[in-house]
Amino acid sequence: MPQADNSAATLLIDGEWVPAADGRTRQIHCPADGQLVATVSEGGRADAERAIAAARRAFDEGGWSTSSAWERGDLLLRVADILVRDKDEFARAESLDTGKRLVESEYDMDDIAACFRYFGKIAGTDAGKLVDTGSPDAISRVQYEPVGVCGMITPWNFPLLQVAWKVAPAIAAGDTFILKPSELTPSTAVLLMRALVEAGLPAGVGNLVLGTGSEVGSVLSEHPAVDLISFTGGLHTGRTISAMAAPTVKKVALELGGKNPNVVFADADFDTAVDFALTAIFLHSGQVCSAGARLVVQDEVHDALVAEIVRRAEKIRIGGPFDEDAETGPLISAAHLQKVDDYVKEAVSEGAVLRTGGKRPEGERYATGHYYLPTVLDEVKQGSYAVTEESFGPVLTVERFTDEDDAVRIANDTHYGLAGAVFTSDPAKAQRVANRLRHGTVWINDFHPYLPQAEWGGFKQSGIGRELGRAGLGEYQEAKHVYQNLRPGPQNWFSAE
Ligand code: NAD
Repeated sequence: MPQADNSAATLLIDGEWVPAADGRTRQIHCPADGQLVATVSEGGRADAERAIAAARRAFDEGGWSTSSAWERGDLLLRVADILVRDKDEFARAESLDTGKRLVESEYDMDDIAACFRYFGKIAGTDAGKLVDTGSPDAISRVQYEPVGVCGMITPWNFPLLQVAWKVAPAIAAGDTFILKPSELTPSTAVLLMRALVEAGLPAGVGNLVLGTGSEVGSVLSEHPAVDLISFTGGLHTGRTISAMAAPTVKKVALELGGKNPNVVFADADFDTAVDFALTAIFLHSGQVCSAGARLVVQDEVHDALVAEIVRRAEKIRIGGPFDEDAETGPLISAAHLQKVDDYVKEAVSEGAVLRTGGKRPEGERYATGHYYLPTVLDEVKQGSYAVTEESFGPVLTVERFTDEDDAVRIANDTHYGLAGAVFTSDPAKAQRVANRLRHGTVWINDFHPYLPQAEWGGFKQSGIGRELGRAGLGEYQEAKHVYQNLRPGPQNWFSAE
């Protein structure tokens, strides 16, 4: 069943669904079994430039950027309603593109609708502020205005979620945009653009250009008519995009990778810690930027905890998106599977102890999908490749610590700073450690929850800026100071003679 528009007129430019200028298309195959799920347009430089021109016009000449924020908020609420109405279609398309279990895609669609609802509700609630001038003869205010034309580049792991975190605040702010989702998972972006059109988004305000990063993404990053580039993806791509954006000094928002520590103290509830350690890393086969890829465990409980995690990891049922009994799915592509396997081999070659996994599952059922077994690498060394590099697969590394200071030192010993967790039955210790962790999100006795009303983003090389929350809207706004002299007259600072 085709999930995207199989007519391959899947670029939305200036309100029209069009094929790529040079007629190219791309076939999307499900990572779980290789079946063809969609054929979409493959845009290039010419399409990107046309879309940028349309977004620029819509911003500069249309009434969008000065439209009522309340009306833009209403539009977002209508989008949320469409997402709820068409949830099954969206979730199926997401699962077919990513190989993710249907139930996980369904959760994602609920979160995406909540994101549109959140930004729909806060649009217009904070237009700016009055500033005290210290004089009855002057008034002064700071007002929040749209940034302008936004380029948005997103990854394949949570395809529509990452798109929603950018599109919803951009619409709330009154920006226009060009979206380039991952070339591997474009289907739900096509469906979302249809929903935006149905909800009443004016032509040219939201544009979709499918295609590769090197062709479409680079044009968005470099182009002088783009005011902001918002990127979610890998660290190396983020650096490249920053460099491409620098000559035009456009605003840059980056949500990059993570190497996220999950700190377990000996006093933590054992079963809870085991259970969360498994979901922290093996959910969506570890293809989660905030995955708990580093288990940092106190010496006393190390052996028992690792033994139980290994026992449970070996029971995890792997399968395709619609397999009733599957608990996790495939990796996104053959290339990514190879990368994960290379990562494991490199870690073992530098001394990590392979406790389980480290290979593809056996059996006919897995032959055509990009599956990899849940893997546990024990006794990894500080500063080693295994603890510094992201595998972005179902691979848990284990490090030991002695006391609280040691735990904090190890957990912060990474150039990333996206997320971390602490498991302990001592609330005061939990708070102390949470306060000392240099990561953008910290969970205490939990892993993974996030809220649309709470900022998300990275310390250090995990990114620049924040998505979600009030700051997530602020990324798409400029602050302008307007000062008015109420009793204008000559100041005579310089002599008139
Ligand atoms: P990626 O960096 O390879 O690609 C992401 C996007 O960038 C894609 O749309 C791709 O086409 C585009 N791109 C690639 N090269 C480009 C270039 N030279 N110029 C412009 N655009 C380019 O990342 P991925 O493999 O799709 O996603 C996985 C990465 O994303 C992981 O590192 C993960 O941690 C990160 N991620 C971070 C978050 C977060 O919230 N911090 C969320 C999801 C994923």
